[in-house]
Amino acid sequence: MSLEGKTAVITGGGRGIGAAVARALAGAGVRVVVSARTAEQVAGLAAELREAGHGAWGVIADVADEASVANLAREATDRLGRVDILVNNAGIAGSAPVTRITLEDWNRIFAVNATGTFLCTRAFLPGMLETGWGRVVNVASVAGRTGGRYMAAYSASKHAAVGFTRCAAAEVAGRGVTINALCPGFVDTEMVRESVDRIVAKTGRSRDEALADIVSTSGHGRLVSSEEVADAALWLCGDGAASVNGQAIVIDGGGFLG
Ligand code: NAP
Repeated sequence: MSLEGKTAVITGGGRGIGAAVARALAGAGVRVVVSARTAEQVAGLAAELREAGHGAWGVIADVADEASVANLAREATDRLGRVDILVNNAGIAGSAPVTRITLEDWNRIFAVNATGTFLCTRAFLPGMLETGWGRVVNVASVAGRTGGRYMAAYSASKHAAVGFTRCAAAEVAGRGVTINALCPGFVDTEMVRESVDRIVAKTGRSRDEALADIVSTSGHGRLVSSEEVADAALWLCGDGAASVNGQAIVIDGGGFLG
């Protein structure tokens, strides 16, 4: 697919799913700003993309911080001229039974996964509405469509991101802009490796057993790859998906939702 001439900001773009989305968009001709808090990761990915002949810049930003998001919007607009595509991918996880979730952890997870999605959308949407073309892709989670044990804070924050997606999509309908969410099951990234570490530390089970438990929630008996999520994001950005708006698309091999 060609998106030649378009521009994009990808939050949480330094590694994992965000990095795969940045590579996919750049490969389709999109000039990208990759953003996250870890300087080496965003600079490293931007350098990799530039070496491959793409237009790419790294900008450090914390999506949970309003001033930092305002600075990201300024820097991205300086480099790209205008921003056509926003991928709200930055996210953090955490697991605990409801009775042991601290207010601090609850607020921290909401600040990134829910508030960060709102702050970035609010910052970039006006430019898209002005040009009459735009795409917002929110990387939520299958946990934003269903629930399970020990994930109440994460799941609630992702339900918030999905609800926000549906409401914002209704507001922009018919104006050349679409806002959708992707809801992956477990994806082969650092986030899942950390989940495995937590299970091992809390239960004393082996890494293989912990991973097998995670994989058993998917319909196809494996983790989803970052590239599969990136492919879906790329499709949502194309003109062929212009009529898809306000959706929360599950990518989990068919398992989690039963
Ligand atoms: P990851 O490898 O841990 O990457 C998360 C990215 O988000 C990193 O680049 C991280 O960079 C960035 N980030 C975290 N907090 C941030 C903040 N406050 N401001 C800006 N950037 C921030 O995880 P991933 O699996 O690729 O996750 C990407 C997204 O997919 C998340 O929203 C996650 O919830 C969602 N997801 C993941 C899975 C999965 O199984 N892996 C499944 C469903 C949905 P810094 O730490 O450097 O800021």
